[in-house]
Amino acid sequence: MFCPECGNTEEPLINGVCKNCFLKTYQMIKIPENIDVIICKHCNAKLFQGQWIDEEIPEEEIIYRAIEDAIKIDELTENPIIDLEILQMRGTIAECEVIVNGNVLNTDINEIYNVNVKLNHNVCSNCSKKESGYYEAVIQLRADNREIKQEELNKIEGIVQHTINKQAKKDKLAYIPQILTPKEGFDYYIGSYKTAKKIINNLKNEIGGESKESPRLISEDKSTGKGLYRIWISFRLPEYEIGDFVKFEDKILEITHISGHNIHCENLQDRKDFNIQWKNSTKVKLLEKNTKVKQSIVTDKSPSMIQILDPDDYTTVDLEMNDKFNNINIGQEVDTIKLEGQVYLL
Ligand SMILES: [Zn+2]
Ligand SMILES: [Zn+2]
Repeated sequence: MFCPECGNTEEPLINGVCKNCFLKTYQMIKIPENIDVIICKHCNAKLFQGQWIDEEIPEEEIIYRAIEDAIKIDELTENPIIDLEILQMRGTIAECEVIVNGNVLNTDINEIYNVNVKLNHNVCSNCSKKESGYYEAVIQLRADNREIKQEELNKIEGIVQHTINKQAKKDKLAYIPQILTPKEGFDYYIGSYKTAKKIINNLKNEIGGESKESPRLISEDKSTGKGLYRIWISFRLPEYEIGDFVKFEDKILEITHISGHNIHCENLQDRKDFNIQWKNSTKVKLLEKNTKVKQSIVTDKSPSMIQILDPDDYTTVDLEMNDKFNNINIGQEVDTIKLEGQVYLL
Protein backbone atom coordinates (compact mmCIF):
# COMPACT_ATOMS: atom_id res chain seq x y z
CA MET A 1 0.00 0.00 0.00
CA PHE A 2 1.20 3.50 -0.73
CA CYS A 3 -0.24 7.01 -0.45
CA PRO A 4 -1.81 8.06 -3.77
CA GLU A 5 -1.04 11.72 -2.95
CA CYS A 6 2.68 11.51 -2.20
CA GLY A 7 3.69 7.92 -2.88
CA ASN A 8 4.78 7.33 0.73
CA THR A 9 4.68 3.60 1.52
CA GLU A 10 5.77 3.57 5.16
CA GLU A 11 2.74 4.77 7.11
CA PRO A 12 -0.71 3.24 7.49
CA LEU A 13 -3.31 5.06 5.45
CA ILE A 14 -6.12 7.20 6.92
CA ASN A 15 -9.07 7.91 4.63
CA GLY A 16 -6.94 6.45 1.82
CA VAL A 17 -3.94 8.77 2.26
CA CYS A 18 -0.88 8.83 4.51
CA LYS A 19 -0.92 10.69 7.84
CA ASN A 20 1.06 13.65 6.45
CA CYS A 21 -1.31 14.13 3.54
CA PHE A 22 -4.33 13.59 5.82
CA LEU A 23 -3.18 16.28 8.27
CA LYS A 24 -2.61 18.78 5.42
CA THR A 25 -6.35 19.18 4.95
CA TYR A 26 -7.53 18.12 8.42
CA GLN A 27 -9.35 20.63 10.63
CA MET A 28 -9.65 20.02 14.37
CA ILE A 29 -12.85 22.04 14.60
CA LYS A 30 -15.67 23.08 12.35
CA ILE A 31 -16.89 26.63 12.76
CA PRO A 32 -18.79 28.91 10.38
CA GLU A 33 -16.99 32.05 9.24
CA ASN A 34 -19.99 34.19 10.07
CA ILE A 35 -22.21 33.79 13.11
CA ASP A 36 -25.38 35.79 13.59
CA VAL A 37 -26.78 36.49 17.03
CA ILE A 38 -30.02 38.29 17.77
CA ILE A 39 -29.94 40.16 21.08
CA CYS A 40 -32.29 42.57 22.82
CA LYS A 41 -31.01 46.13 22.64
CA HIS A 42 -32.36 46.87 26.14
CA CYS A 43 -31.50 43.84 28.25
CA ASN A 44 -29.08 41.83 26.06
CA ALA A 45 -31.35 38.76 26.12
CA LYS A 46 -30.50 36.37 23.30
CA LEU A 47 -32.97 34.84 20.88
CA PHE A 48 -32.34 31.13 20.96
CA GLN A 49 -34.63 28.64 19.20
CA GLY A 50 -37.52 31.10 19.31
CA GLN A 51 -37.04 31.92 22.99
CA TRP A 52 -35.45 34.94 24.63
CA ILE A 53 -32.92 33.69 27.14
CA ASP A 54 -30.00 34.87 29.31
CA GLU A 55 -30.66 38.54 29.99
CA GLU A 56 -28.15 41.08 31.25
CA ILE A 57 -25.05 39.30 29.95
CA PRO A 58 -22.26 41.59 28.74
CA GLU A 59 -21.82 41.80 24.96
CA GLU A 60 -18.33 40.31 25.10
CA GLU A 61 -19.67 37.26 26.89
CA ILE A 62 -22.48 36.91 24.34
CA ILE A 63 -19.91 36.87 21.53
CA TYR A 64 -17.75 34.25 23.26
CA ARG A 65 -20.75 32.07 23.99
CA ALA A 66 -21.97 32.34 20.39
CA ILE A 67 -18.60 31.07 19.15
CA GLU A 68 -18.45 28.29 21.74
CA ASP A 69 -21.94 27.15 20.76
CA ALA A 70 -20.96 27.09 17.06
CA ILE A 71 -17.75 25.08 17.46
CA LYS A 72 -17.84 21.38 16.60
CA ILE A 73 -14.70 19.47 17.58
CA ASP A 74 -13.70 16.59 15.32
CA GLU A 75 -13.58 13.23 17.07
CA LEU A 76 -9.96 12.55 16.07
CA THR A 77 -8.83 15.61 18.02
CA GLU A 78 -7.60 14.88 21.52
CA ASN A 79 -7.10 17.28 24.43
CA PRO A 80 -8.24 20.34 22.51
CA ILE A 81 -7.58 23.72 24.14
CA ILE A 82 -9.52 26.54 22.54
CA ASP A 83 -8.78 30.23 23.07
CA LEU A 84 -11.13 32.91 21.86
CA GLU A 85 -10.21 36.50 21.25
CA ILE A 86 -12.15 39.50 20.01
CA LEU A 87 -9.69 41.28 17.70
CA GLN A 88 -11.87 44.30 17.01
CA MET A 89 -15.44 45.53 16.76
CA ARG A 90 -16.46 46.80 13.34
CA GLY A 91 -19.89 48.32 13.87
CA THR A 92 -22.01 45.47 15.19
CA ILE A 93 -19.58 42.87 13.90
CA ALA A 94 -17.00 41.35 16.23
CA GLU A 95 -13.93 40.12 14.37
CA CYS A 96 -12.67 37.21 16.36
CA GLU A 97 -9.87 34.70 16.40
CA VAL A 98 -10.25 31.11 17.50
CA ILE A 99 -6.97 29.43 18.43
CA VAL A 100 -7.06 25.66 18.78
CA ASN A 101 -4.30 23.49 20.20
CA GLY A 102 -4.79 19.77 20.12
CA ASN A 103 -3.35 16.41 19.36
CA VAL A 104 -4.30 14.39 16.29
CA LEU A 105 -2.84 10.95 15.61
CA ASN A 106 -0.04 11.65 18.10
CA THR A 107 0.85 14.93 16.40
CA ASP A 108 0.44 18.29 18.18
CA ILE A 109 -1.39 20.74 15.98
CA ASN A 110 -2.13 24.45 16.26
CA GLU A 111 -4.86 26.07 14.18
CA ILE A 112 -6.20 29.61 13.93
CA TYR A 113 -9.64 30.47 12.58
CA ASN A 114 -11.15 33.87 11.89
CA VAL A 115 -14.80 34.25 12.75
CA ASN A 116 -17.13 37.22 12.48
CA VAL A 117 -19.94 37.41 15.03
CA LYS A 118 -22.67 39.81 14.02
CA LEU A 119 -24.88 41.19 16.80
CA ASN A 120 -28.33 41.93 15.42
CA HIS A 121 -30.27 44.13 17.79
CA ASN A 122 -33.94 43.62 18.39
CA VAL A 123 -36.34 44.04 21.30
CA CYS A 124 -37.20 40.99 23.40
CA SER A 125 -40.75 40.13 24.36
CA ASN A 126 -40.38 41.35 27.95
CA CYS A 127 -38.81 44.66 26.94
CA SER A 128 -41.42 45.25 24.28
CA LYS A 129 -44.11 44.62 26.89
CA LYS A 130 -42.42 47.17 29.09
CA GLU A 131 -42.11 49.67 26.24
CA SER A 132 -45.79 49.35 25.45
CA GLY A 133 -46.84 49.83 29.08
CA TYR A 134 -48.09 46.25 29.37
CA TYR A 135 -49.41 45.28 32.80
CA GLU A 136 -50.97 42.17 34.30
CA ALA A 137 -52.34 43.61 37.50
CA VAL A 138 -53.60 46.81 39.07
CA ILE A 139 -53.42 47.36 42.82
CA GLN A 140 -56.18 49.71 43.90
CA LEU A 141 -55.18 51.25 47.18
CA ARG A 142 -58.09 52.59 49.20
CA ALA A 143 -59.07 53.44 52.76
CA ASP A 144 -62.62 52.86 53.97
CA ASN A 145 -64.63 56.10 54.30
CA ARG A 146 -61.56 58.28 54.59
CA GLU A 147 -58.54 59.51 52.72
CA ILE A 148 -55.22 57.73 52.85
CA LYS A 149 -52.91 59.58 55.22
CA GLN A 150 -49.60 60.89 53.96
CA GLU A 151 -47.64 58.81 56.49
CA GLU A 152 -49.55 55.69 55.43
CA LEU A 153 -48.78 56.47 51.82
CA ASN A 154 -45.08 56.99 52.56
CA LYS A 155 -44.93 53.61 54.23
CA ILE A 156 -46.83 51.92 51.40
CA GLU A 157 -44.66 53.49 48.70
CA GLY A 158 -41.56 52.31 50.54
CA ILE A 159 -42.89 48.73 50.65
CA VAL A 160 -43.94 48.84 46.98
CA GLN A 161 -40.58 50.18 45.81
CA HIS A 162 -38.60 47.75 47.95
CA THR A 163 -40.61 44.81 46.59
CA ILE A 164 -40.19 45.96 42.99
CA ASN A 165 -36.43 46.32 43.41
CA LYS A 166 -36.14 42.86 44.93
CA GLN A 167 -38.41 41.22 42.36
CA ALA A 168 -36.68 42.91 39.41
CA LYS A 169 -33.76 40.53 39.87
CA LYS A 170 -35.89 37.53 38.94
CA ASP A 171 -39.00 38.96 37.29
CA LYS A 172 -38.50 41.00 34.09
CA LEU A 173 -42.02 42.34 34.44
CA ALA A 174 -41.47 43.75 37.92
CA TYR A 175 -42.08 47.36 36.96
CA ILE A 176 -44.75 50.01 37.41
CA PRO A 177 -45.81 51.50 34.06
CA GLN A 178 -48.09 54.01 35.73
CA ILE A 179 -49.65 55.20 38.96
CA LEU A 180 -53.05 56.84 38.76
CA THR A 181 -54.46 58.99 41.54
CA PRO A 182 -58.24 58.95 41.45
CA LYS A 183 -59.70 60.87 44.39
CA GLU A 184 -60.54 57.63 46.24
CA GLY A 185 -56.91 56.55 46.42
CA PHE A 186 -54.04 55.26 44.28
CA ASP A 187 -53.91 52.77 41.41
CA TYR A 188 -50.58 51.03 40.92
CA TYR A 189 -50.22 49.33 37.55
CA ILE A 190 -47.84 46.37 37.86
CA GLY A 191 -46.12 44.58 34.98
CA SER A 192 -46.53 41.11 36.42
CA TYR A 193 -49.28 39.57 38.51
CA LYS A 194 -46.65 37.59 40.42
CA THR A 195 -44.94 40.75 41.62
CA ALA A 196 -48.28 42.43 42.37
CA LYS A 197 -49.10 39.51 44.69
CA LYS A 198 -45.72 39.87 46.39
CA ILE A 199 -46.46 43.54 46.99
CA ILE A 200 -49.84 42.70 48.51
CA ASN A 201 -48.28 40.08 50.82
CA ASN A 202 -45.61 42.49 51.97
CA LEU A 203 -48.16 45.25 52.57
CA LYS A 204 -50.30 42.90 54.64
CA ASN A 205 -47.31 41.67 56.63
CA GLU A 206 -46.28 45.18 57.53
CA ILE A 207 -49.44 47.24 57.82
CA GLY A 208 -52.33 44.79 57.70
CA GLY A 209 -55.26 45.65 55.46
CA GLU A 210 -57.65 43.58 53.37
CA SER A 211 -57.31 42.53 49.75
CA LYS A 212 -59.63 41.11 47.15
CA GLU A 213 -58.89 40.05 43.59
CA SER A 214 -61.14 40.42 40.59
CA PRO A 215 -59.85 39.09 37.27
CA ARG A 216 -61.16 40.65 34.08
CA LEU A 217 -60.99 38.89 30.74
CA ILE A 218 -59.03 41.11 28.39
CA SER A 219 -58.84 39.00 25.26
CA GLU A 220 -58.66 35.45 24.09
CA ASP A 221 -55.63 33.82 22.53
CA LYS A 222 -57.12 32.39 19.35
CA SER A 223 -54.42 29.77 18.90
CA THR A 224 -54.72 28.28 22.39
CA GLY A 225 -58.28 29.31 23.25
CA LYS A 226 -56.94 30.54 26.60
CA GLY A 227 -58.32 33.71 28.08
CA LEU A 228 -55.94 36.54 28.90
CA TYR A 229 -56.81 38.04 32.24
CA ARG A 230 -55.84 41.19 33.96
CA ILE A 231 -56.21 41.13 37.73
CA TRP A 232 -57.55 44.05 39.73
CA ILE A 233 -56.53 43.77 43.36
CA SER A 234 -58.31 45.97 45.81
CA PHE A 235 -56.23 46.69 48.89
CA ARG A 236 -58.18 48.40 51.62
CA LEU A 237 -57.07 50.05 54.79
CA PRO A 238 -59.75 50.13 57.47
CA GLU A 239 -61.53 53.31 58.45
CA TYR A 240 -60.09 53.06 61.98
CA GLU A 241 -56.52 54.07 62.74
CA ILE A 242 -54.18 54.25 65.70
CA GLY A 243 -55.81 56.32 68.46
CA ASP A 244 -59.37 55.57 67.30
CA PHE A 245 -61.99 53.84 69.42
CA VAL A 246 -63.60 50.61 68.30
CA LYS A 247 -65.91 47.88 69.49
CA PHE A 248 -65.09 44.21 69.11
CA GLU A 249 -67.05 41.38 70.75
CA ASP A 250 -68.66 43.84 73.22
CA LYS A 251 -65.27 45.19 74.23
CA ILE A 252 -64.69 48.94 74.07
CA LEU A 253 -61.14 49.43 72.80
CA GLU A 254 -58.63 52.12 71.93
CA ILE A 255 -56.26 51.18 69.08
CA THR A 256 -52.68 51.62 70.27
CA HIS A 257 -50.69 50.05 67.45
CA ILE A 258 -51.28 48.34 64.11
CA SER A 259 -49.02 45.60 62.75
CA GLY A 260 -49.29 43.10 59.94
CA HIS A 261 -50.79 40.44 62.18
CA ASN A 262 -52.72 42.26 64.86
CA ILE A 263 -54.63 45.36 65.73
CA HIS A 264 -53.25 46.12 69.18
CA CYS A 265 -55.69 47.74 71.57
CA GLU A 266 -56.23 48.78 75.13
CA ASN A 267 -59.51 47.64 76.59
CA LEU A 268 -61.02 50.79 78.14
CA GLN A 269 -63.20 48.72 80.45
CA ASP A 270 -60.49 46.79 82.26
CA ARG A 271 -57.43 48.74 80.96
CA LYS A 272 -55.77 45.55 79.78
CA ASP A 273 -54.09 45.05 76.41
CA PHE A 274 -56.17 43.27 73.83
CA ASN A 275 -55.16 42.13 70.33
CA ILE A 276 -57.47 41.58 67.39
CA GLN A 277 -56.17 39.37 64.61
CA TRP A 278 -56.42 40.86 61.13
CA LYS A 279 -58.58 38.01 59.94
CA ASN A 280 -61.24 39.33 62.33
CA SER A 281 -60.81 42.93 61.27
CA THR A 282 -64.12 43.03 59.46
CA LYS A 283 -65.87 42.43 62.81
CA VAL A 284 -64.31 45.56 64.27
CA LYS A 285 -66.72 48.46 64.51
CA LEU A 286 -65.48 52.01 64.60
CA LEU A 287 -67.09 53.92 67.50
CA GLU A 288 -65.30 57.27 67.34
CA LYS A 289 -62.29 58.81 65.65
CA ASN A 290 -59.63 60.18 67.99
CA THR A 291 -60.64 63.71 66.97
CA LYS A 292 -63.60 63.28 69.33
CA VAL A 293 -61.36 63.23 72.40
CA LYS A 294 -62.41 66.02 74.81
CA GLN A 295 -60.72 67.63 77.76
CA SER A 296 -62.26 67.36 81.18
CA ILE A 297 -61.20 67.82 84.79
CA VAL A 298 -60.72 65.50 87.76
CA THR A 299 -63.00 66.56 90.60
CA ASP A 300 -62.43 63.83 93.18
CA LYS A 301 -60.29 60.80 93.81
CA SER A 302 -60.31 57.93 96.33
CA PRO A 303 -58.58 54.53 96.47
CA SER A 304 -61.60 52.96 94.77
CA MET A 305 -62.80 55.65 92.36
CA ILE A 306 -61.86 58.71 90.35
CA GLN A 307 -64.42 61.39 89.56
CA ILE A 308 -64.41 63.52 86.44
CA LEU A 309 -66.84 65.92 84.76
CA ASP A 310 -68.80 64.79 81.74
CA PRO A 311 -67.37 67.15 79.08
CA ASP A 312 -70.80 67.59 77.48
CA ASP A 313 -73.03 68.49 80.43
CA TYR A 314 -70.54 68.94 83.31
CA THR A 315 -72.30 66.37 85.51
CA THR A 316 -69.94 64.31 87.65
CA VAL A 317 -69.05 60.81 86.59
CA ASP A 318 -67.53 58.23 88.96
CA LEU A 319 -65.09 55.82 87.38
CA GLU A 320 -63.62 52.72 88.95
CA MET A 321 -60.05 53.30 90.12
CA ASN A 322 -57.25 51.76 88.12
CA ASP A 323 -53.47 51.66 88.63
CA LYS A 324 -53.11 53.71 85.47
CA PHE A 325 -54.85 56.67 87.17
CA ASN A 326 -52.54 56.70 90.21
CA ASN A 327 -50.56 59.73 89.11
CA ILE A 328 -53.59 61.84 88.21
CA ASN A 329 -54.46 64.50 90.77
CA ILE A 330 -57.66 66.32 91.65
CA GLY A 331 -57.99 69.49 89.55
CA GLN A 332 -55.90 68.08 86.72
CA GLU A 333 -57.02 68.36 83.09
CA VAL A 334 -57.45 64.98 81.44
CA ASP A 335 -58.45 63.54 78.07
CA THR A 336 -61.79 61.78 77.88
CA ILE A 337 -63.91 60.10 75.28
CA LYS A 338 -67.63 59.36 75.33
CA LEU A 339 -68.47 56.02 73.77
CA GLU A 340 -72.00 54.59 73.67
CA GLY A 341 -73.05 57.10 76.35
CA GLN A 342 -70.24 56.20 78.74
CA VAL A 343 -67.35 58.55 79.52
CA TYR A 344 -63.87 57.00 79.62
CA LEU A 345 -60.73 58.52 81.04
CA LEU A 346 -57.75 58.18 78.73
ZN1 LIG B 1 0.79 11.05 1.48
ZN1 LIG C 1 -35.04 42.83 26.55
